[in-house]
Amino acid sequence: MQPVIALVGRPNVGKSTLFNRMTKSRDAIVADYAGLTRDRHYGHARLGRREFIVIDTGGFEPDASGGIFKEMARQTQQAVAEADVVVFVVDVRAGVSAQDHDIANYLRRLGKPCVLAGNKAEGMENHAQLAEFYELGLGALHPVSAAHGQGVRSLLELALQPLNLPEDDDDPMDVQGSGAIRLAVAGRPNVGKSTLINAWLGEERLVVFDLAGTTRDAITVPFERQGQRFELIDTAGLRRKGKVFEAIEKFSVVKTLQAIESAHVVVLLLDATEGVTDQDAHIAGYILESGRSVVIAINKWDAVDDYGRQQLQRSIETRLAFLKFAPLHFISAQRRQGLAPLWKSIVRAHKAAVCKMPTPVLTRLLLESVQFQAPKRAGGHRPKMRYAHQGGMNPPVIVIHGNALDHVTDAYKRFLEGRFRKEFDLVGTPLRIELRTSH
Ligand code: GDP
Ligand code: GDP
Repeated sequence: MQPVIALVGRPNVGKSTLFNRMTKSRDAIVADYAGLTRDRHYGHARLGRREFIVIDTGGFEPDASGGIFKEMARQTQQAVAEADVVVFVVDVRAGVSAQDHDIANYLRRLGKPCVLAGNKAEGMENHAQLAEFYELGLGALHPVSAAHGQGVRSLLELALQPLNLPEDDDDPMDVQGSGAIRLAVAGRPNVGKSTLINAWLGEERLVVFDLAGTTRDAITVPFERQGQRFELIDTAGLRRKGKVFEAIEKFSVVKTLQAIESAHVVVLLLDATEGVTDQDAHIAGYILESGRSVVIAINKWDAVDDYGRQQLQRSIETRLAFLKFAPLHFISAQRRQGLAPLWKSIVRAHKAAVCKMPTPVLTRLLLESVQFQAPKRAGGHRPKMRYAHQGGMNPPVIVIHGNALDHVTDAYKRFLEGRFRKEFDLVGTPLRIELRTSH
């Protein structure tokens, strides 16, 4: 599971600036997907090969009038409680405030690793004012400038240090490793996650290992289905209890994110009787940002009439437009209907994510597509595509080389995407196409 860093601090100290700085690397994945409303409180960051989740607790804050932690949203407290490390952000230009003291007291009581970040420190690295922050009792202040990107890297190194993460951790995407497809079922409370998982685990064609040996903190359940090995990841609001999965009360965004990040394929479960809610759209957004493969399953199909079904289909088309590449399944977990096609899609989505696309095949396909329909001339330039190669896996990235490629339209990129998807059977995975102009 990826470690979690929570950014806390009073308003205006620069938490969201710092958050954006830390999580920037993911923007490339989602740049091409319109309609995504991003949850700016949860993000993903990377330091070398170490990946982790960052939470910005800003924006959850109450107005300063009523004691900051009394009213602090439950979500924030939960996020801080679930974090492995807290980065407490203060404003070195403003000096120590009473609110800073309140927060410091709270963090000391919490007793988890905490790093003190003095933001807005550009140009004042050795300033006497920095020493003042010792009185917070959280050790030395680490000066940073979120706006200018100074000190952020070493701040992260400092923050991750107490976690003792192995530098060369197994690449979580190493699908050859155990040969198992890691599977997570994500969805808000009550959509039917535990019903679905228990239906799966009770399936005859499925061999579950080690279910009896219930270590309470076991986080995956290995099983085999038709010769393919899987590992089911405990998800938000779900715990194994004996032989079955049980819904627990508390929904946790952090757990959802961790499950998504450590999965190969995520099943996004929706409730047909309720349509696509804001929370569903957020979870869908996390999945897209993770770059993981996704299959959408609409549960409780048995409980809606034709009218409801039409409504639902429409709301999926509009609210989850950015997941258009995901196969859609209508199921009833309770009646065990639609489960076999869902399995097929899961395996197919995994295959797509780790698909190998040889340069000659990609290039041939590219040139054929250009011959079929050439990119439009724009501003006196005719984009010229020369060859393509695979730039990454999980999610797959295709890099196209040529001249004047800045002039290629989004519509043309979508046309190419469609051709590549068809050729390599890329369903369920995002696909990123990068254009590189050689000068
Ligand atoms: P938050 O309320 O803690 O999330 O704070 P914001 O990230 O919204 O930042 C509050 C203000 O501080 C904004 O006007 C930022 O432009 C500014 N700010 C953020 N980081 C820095 C920094 O490193 N140096 C300076 N001088 N200003 C910054
Ligand atoms: P979770 O919180 O996502 O794990 O949801 P549960 O699996 O606990 O299910 C929530 C409720 O939905 C329970 O009352 C289930 O019986 C019900 N439910 C689950 N699947 C179906 C289904 O396919 N059809 C109908 N009608 N109800 C279902």
